[in-house]
Amino acid sequence: MVLGDLGKRINRAIRLMSDATVIDEAVVKEMLNEIAKALLEADVNIKYVAQLKNRVLNRVKFEELAAGVNKRKMIQGAVVDELCALLDSGRDPVPLKKGKPNVIMFVGLQGNGKTTSCVKYAHYHQRKGWKTALVCADTFRAGAFDQLKQNATKARIPFYGSYTETDPVKLAIEGVNRFKLDKFELIIVDTSGRHKQEKALFEEMEQMSEAVNPNDVIFVMDSSIGQAAEDQAKAFRSSVSVGSVIVTKLDGHAKGGGALSAVSGTGSPITFIGIGEHMTDFEPFNTQSFVGRLLG
Ligand code: GDP
Repeated sequence: MVLGDLGKRINRAIRLMSDATVIDEAVVKEMLNEIAKALLEADVNIKYVAQLKNRVLNRVKFEELAAGVNKRKMIQGAVVDELCALLDSGRDPVPLKKGKPNVIMFVGLQGNGKTTSCVKYAHYHQRKGWKTALVCADTFRAGAFDQLKQNATKARIPFYGSYTETDPVKLAIEGVNRFKLDKFELIIVDTSGRHKQEKALFEEMEQMSEAVNPNDVIFVMDSSIGQAAEDQAKAFRSSVSVGSVIVTKLDGHAKGGGALSAVSGTGSPITFIGIGEHMTDFEPFNTQSFVGRLLG
């Protein structure tokens, strides 16, 4: 995992600070510069990097530190806290309600991993005891229904779709209503994507959202675009009420850190991350445990 390299570099910077005979402001600044370099290389926006440096420095008031305070631990704690803050959207995700039909609409550009993530998300919840179903309302991409059907069948998740219907909104309504009648608790609607952000896509998302009235809209985003994720997340948020984000392909991209921090900066919580092509290459995202693991 490329993100692991970022973790290693941050750890190395912390270790250099810890190993210094005297820990003074110059040593801390040197550590922060090393951390900043690593974050910038992971495509984290310079604005967030500067913020992190200032906040750590503001927390470590050398002249006020009482004798006997473990400076190393305190500074390390401040770095960890600020790395967590970098990934914290400040908003809680929409909670799912057990025993109720939760309709979850997935949106995102084509190729970002939307269909794969729908099935991973369904599989994850099904294993946790949720009665889960998938609706394929992607009529734009040829083969979308086949892909969903194959993966859903593999995971033994009921699905709904059509080879002939061309109206995605009609398909979504039919699928959602059918699964509501059968008392499904989690009805996941996979929608069409487009190659780029374009009017037709956003119009379709708005119509779909009005028609199926989702409990949550999940925006699926490819981490390889790094901090450009900010613009994309904002564009989707301005057309549909995105409640949470799934960031995919964190297994292979040096810009993962940039994407995660950029999305969090837009105020949408990241709820899951995709770390591979397989059904189980999928993890709930929690800032504390993510940073904990990043730093080993
Ligand atoms: P969609 O057009 O947004 O529905 O995208 P797909 O779900 O078809 O995914 C596009 C490609 O990305 C496929 O080859 C997936 O296997 C791959 N993919 C999706 N998520 C991940 C991930 O987390 N890691 C990796 N390495 N590949 C992924």
